[in-house]
Formats: sequence, C-alpha cells, structure tokens
Amino acid sequence: MNIECPNCKKKFSNDQFLYHCREYDPQLGVCKFYCPNCSASIDTMVTVGNISLGYVYSTGNSRFSGVIDYQIRDLKVDGTMVSYNGLEYDLESGDA
Ligand SMILES: [Zn+2]
Repeated sequence: MNIECPNCKKKFSNDQFLYHCREYDPQLGVCKFYCPNCSASIDTMVTVGNISLGYVYSTGNSRFSGVIDYQIRDLKVDGTMVSYNGLEYDLESGDA
C-alpha cells in the first residue's frame, strides 16, 4: 500500500510517510507531512487505522478537512506517538 503525495504524485510506503511527519498541532490533531521529493508540506491527520491527507482552513475557527483517506491496519496512535510495523514515530518532533 502506498501513500501518494498530492503535490508531486510520488508514492511512499506507510513507513516512509510517517517518518516525514512532524509539527503536530495538539489543538487540531493535525501534523504536517514534508514530502522529501517536492518539499511540499501536506496537512495530515493520523488516527487509529487511518491516515487522512487534506487541508487546514484557518479562516475563523481552524479546522481540518480530509481529502484522501488511507486505511492502514495495525496503525496505532497514542498521543503524538504512532506505532506501525514494530516502529514508533513521534508526530511532534519527527523522530522515528
Ligand atoms: Zn511531493
């Protein structure tokens, strides 16, 4: 299963994608995926079993609107820590 960068259309494995997620916003529950190919930053919501790519609208009350959902079995989320495939990723600092 591959996650496609909405900007450059390059495909990433789930692991690669999570590795490039950081700057988690606890109020919105949204982090940013920094594409290593095109340097775009994509607003991303990671929840249990799901990665959602979309946009944060910042007019009025900020809110996240998902555009594409990827259902990923075995994706676990605990606060800013995501575990998948035996590895842990920190959505805040980007450390894996
Ligand atoms: Zn890209």
